[in-house]
Amino acid sequence: MAQHPHSGPRSRLLDEFSWLEYAFQPAGQPVPANAAYGQQRHSANVLLANQNIPPKRCESDGLIGEDHLPVAVYTADCLPVLFADPQQQQVAAVHAGLKGTLGGVLNNAIDRLLERGASRETLRVVIGPAIGPCCYELGNDLVTQMQDRHDLPPLPYSTQQPHNAQAIRPQARAQQDGIWFDLPNLARRLLLQRGIVAEHIEVLNVCTYCMAESGSSYRYNTHFDSGYQSRFSWIRTRG
Ligand SMILES: [Zn+2]
Repeated sequence: MAQHPHSGPRSRLLDEFSWLEYAFQPAGQPVPANAAYGQQRHSANVLLANQNIPPKRCESDGLIGEDHLPVAVYTADCLPVLFADPQQQQVAAVHAGLKGTLGGVLNNAIDRLLERGASRETLRVVIGPAIGPCCYELGNDLVTQMQDRHDLPPLPYSTQQPHNAQAIRPQARAQQDGIWFDLPNLARRLLLQRGIVAEHIEVLNVCTYCMAESGSSYRYNTHFDSGYQSRFSWIRTRG
């Protein structure tokens, strides 16, 4: 996959739209000066851009674009998810870890976009760099809890750690007798369950632990105490 060292990976779906700009920035790179972003709490709260100018004024894990402001999220291993709908030129940025994903943050973003004129048939959703199933081990207790929820799609995980042929550093080593969970794919399945068109969902498949630039994984830092910095992902409509 094409990945420029300074600007981060590109999305095939978003690159089709000349009316917007976006970036999945590498760790440590500063966000655009006028960007709106919330005080992120792994919640399902989705607000409007102006509610988080100045940044972190309110608690939110998703922001809907307004007034051509870049809406941003900061992530380490969680999913940065960018939304774009060409109908009314709507955009949104969402921070979705496991907790927020299970809490409905993606659905809330979709609801707010639909209220503002987006449609399920045209909405594009791109899942950016995040910890992949190659490195994301979870305890069995968490999986058992998720399996008790009957509103979820089939859970994407494996008892064997998947090999990642594109890794540029060693994959995470098992820390417990757990399972290897595919969070980007859970998000994808939830989007499909919600009626988003399969061809309009893109998963960039860049694992922050073993594939992205160093310093971008919270979990890698907990294993090696190597330090980490947030990655900003943002999107805006052009003025
Ligand atoms: Zn990995």
